[in-house]
Amino acid sequence: MSPQFRILPRAPGGRRRLVVGNWKMNPATVDEAVALAAEVARIEAGGVEVGIAPPAIALGRVSDTVRGTALRVYAQDVHWEQTGAFTAQTSTSMLAGIAVGSIVGHSEMRRDQGDSDARVAAKATAALRAGLRVILCLGESLAQRNGGETDVVLERQVRDGIGPIPRDLLAAERGVRSAIAYEPIWAIGTGVAASGSQASEAVRKIRLELLRIGVDGNATTILYGGSVSAASVGEFARAEGVDGALVGGASLKPEEFAAIVAAFR
Ligand code: PEP
Repeated sequence: MSPQFRILPRAPGGRRRLVVGNWKMNPATVDEAVALAAEVARIEAGGVEVGIAPPAIALGRVSDTVRGTALRVYAQDVHWEQTGAFTAQTSTSMLAGIAVGSIVGHSEMRRDQGDSDARVAAKATAALRAGLRVILCLGESLAQRNGGETDVVLERQVRDGIGPIPRDLLAAERGVRSAIAYEPIWAIGTGVAASGSQASEAVRKIRLELLRIGVDGNATTILYGGSVSAASVGEFARAEGVDGALVGGASLKPEEFAAIVAAFR
C-alpha cells in the first residue's frame, strides 16, 4: 500500500477523544432538558471532550445552564442558508454563542427530512465556514450490509458527502473542528450494537476514503454510534481507530452517560 494511504492505529498525534449525546426529540420538556444538562455537566470528563445535542428549542436555555463548564453544546442539525424561507430550520448564525457546532447527516434526518449526501456537504460547509464544529454522520442500512455493500456505501458517503467540502475548512486546526460518526443504521436505537471489529473495519475504510479524497483521515476523529451503552461501550473504547461515541438513548441517563465517557478516558 502506498504510504499516503497508510491508516494509523490509535489516536496518533493526539486525535481528540469525543463523546456526544444526541438527545433527539427528548426529554419531553425544555425544563427537563435544562435539568438533565445540569447533571451531565457534572460528569468527570478527564481528557475526553464531552458534548450534548439537545433539541433546537432547548439550545438557548441549555447553553446558559452549562456556560462556564467543560460541557459543549451542539445542535442536532443546521441549515446551509443564513436566513430565508426555510420553515423550522436553524442557521449557523443563529447558533452563535449558543452551540459550538452541529451534527449533520444523521440517518434520521436522511430518512425523515430527505437529507442527501449533497445536502449534508452543504450543511457541513456552512457550519465550518461559520467557525462551528461538525459531527458528520454516515453508515449503511441493514439491507446494504447484508448485501455486502457496506464499503461501497461508505465510499459514496465520503466522496459525495465530504468530498465537496472545501479542503481548507476540513484542514482547519488539523481536524479539531470536524469529526465523523460511523453510525450503522441497523444499530441505531435497536439495542443491537455493531461489534468492535465491525466498527474498526468501517472506521478504517472511512479513513482510507478520506485519504483518497485528499483529507487527512489519520487526523480525523471518528466516533462510533449505534446502541452504545454502559454495557457495550468497552468494545468500542478498545476498538482500533474508534476515538469516541455518538450516543442516543443512553445519553439521557446521566449515570450511564458518565460510564460511557469514562470508558474513553
Ligand atoms: C444516534 O441516534 O445517534 C444513536 C447512536 O442512537 P442510539 O445510541 O440510541 O442507538
